[in-house]
Parts: sequence; structure tokens; C-alpha cells
Amino acid sequence: MRLRTRFAPSPTGPLHLGHAYSAILAHDMARAAGGDFVLRIEDIDRSRSRAEWEDLIYKDLSWLGLSWETPVVRQSERLHLYRQTLQSLWNEDLLFACTCNRRDILEAASAPNESEPAVGPDGIVYPGTCRDRKSFGDPVMPTNTALRLDMAKAIDDRPATFEETGRGPEGESGRIDIHPIALPGEIGDVVLARRDMGTSYHLSVVVDDADQGITHVVRGQDLFEATKIHVVLQDILSLPRPEYHHHRLIRDEAGKRLAKRDDARSIQSYRDAGATPDDIRRMVGL
Ligand code: GLU
Repeated sequence: MRLRTRFAPSPTGPLHLGHAYSAILAHDMARAAGGDFVLRIEDIDRSRSRAEWEDLIYKDLSWLGLSWETPVVRQSERLHLYRQTLQSLWNEDLLFACTCNRRDILEAASAPNESEPAVGPDGIVYPGTCRDRKSFGDPVMPTNTALRLDMAKAIDDRPATFEETGRGPEGESGRIDIHPIALPGEIGDVVLARRDMGTSYHLSVVVDDADQGITHVVRGQDLFEATKIHVVLQDILSLPRPEYHHHRLIRDEAGKRLAKRDDARSIQSYRDAGATPDDIRRMVGL
């Protein structure tokens, strides 16, 4: 099978050294195997995405010497696909509408004994408030509300696995076994459609990786736990499972992971200060 990797930035700020590392790794992996490198613009968050950040992504990546397939896919142009997928999950009774806000969730999750609520890759594990109210078999999927996956219904008894060719945060590598029975308690009913977006990161990324024929997902270790959600979604949607390569995160001198607001470490600021693409490779340890 021809190897296809991708880099999937959100145009919500300037790319920094961490993005450069991720993009170069994915690009070089594809080139070394004679495969394809795909760039996907993850702009479902319309309130934070900006055309100027998208333009800067193209500029930064070209300057780094990377080339990618065209036309570039933008998630904001594929909302109909995500909607179709949600509709099929709704028809199978795997989703429920949720009207809780952050405060409702925090209160309900801490309520039983005032203990610290469990936290998963998406924050506090949803306490189930709206799931318990859901009306089964409703053919009409609501449009102006969040939709959550009913995790307990979505999982199968069989252990699910994925292949990790990089490392998770605890050094996890090779065949990773996911024990589905633990997922409702560890991850819970994740949001698959946010009220303001009509989709979510998890849903869009799984649909697009499959639709774009991605064979190897290269991304930061911060998304290792989210991969468990993606594996569940791939299984219930009968989508192929790519291999995963989670890589170390680039940190600042204090050991803090770089964020979009760290403008001082943006690729653009290094370029403006006279750095070369080779300097950037060296800075990220490549
Ligand atoms: N769009 C995500 C980000 O910018 C990346 C998602 C992924 O690689 O799966 O962090």
C-alpha cells in the first residue's frame, strides 16, 4: 500500500517550532517511502480561524521546503460530510442531544461525593445528565444542540488495537490494546458535534483521515489519548485504521509545551530574524 501522511493544522495562529517538527516528520516519512504528503486545513472553528493564518501556513511550509498534494482540503468545506456521518450514527441510536454547559457538567460530575471529577482527553468525563434523558429511536436529529456519543453503547466487548510506530507520553509503542470496557469511565460520552460548529475535531479528523486515504497519522503525543476515541469511531463507522506515529513535543526552556500564542517561537519570527530552514531542522532536533 502506498504510504500517505498528513499535516493538519488549524489556522488559528502562527505555526511554531512544534508544528514545524510535526510537518517535517510527516513530510520526510512520505518522501522517504516514495509516498504522498497531504496538507489539511482544520478550520471548523469559524470563530478562531482566519484567512491570514491559513496563508501563513502555506508560506511557512513552502519556506521549510515542504510540498504537498493539491487541492488542499479545508474542513469548513466538508460540513455536509460530517453531517451525513452524524445522521448515520443518530439513526443507529449512538448519539444523544446534550444541552449542558461547562458549569452543569462540573456540578453534576462533582456532585455525588464532592470528589474530584474524572478527567479524560476531552476534559471532565461527562456525567451522563442528558444521556439519561434521551428519547430512543427519534428519527429527527436536532441541529441546534451538541451531540454526544453514547460511549457505553458504541463500544464492543472485543479489545480494539492500534499500531504505534512512535511513542505515547508514557513510552507506549508497538501494538496498543484498548480495553473498551474502561472507556465510558475514562473518556465518557465525547462531543461529536458542537452546537456552534455542527461537528467536532474527533469526528472530522476520523472522517477525513479515512476519506483522504491516510495510512500513517503523524502528530504530537498530546493527542495519544484521543486516538482511543478515534479508534472507537473508526470501528463503529467501519473505517480503516491508519498506523499512528505520535512524536515528542517541542518545549520551551522551562519545559512548557509551545502554544500558538508563543509568537516569539513562530516560524515567521525565526525567518524574519534570518534563520534558515536548516536552522529550524536543527532547533527541533532533526
Ligand atoms: N488540527 C489539530 C491541531 O492543530 C491536529 C490534529 C491531528 O493531527 O490529528 O492541533
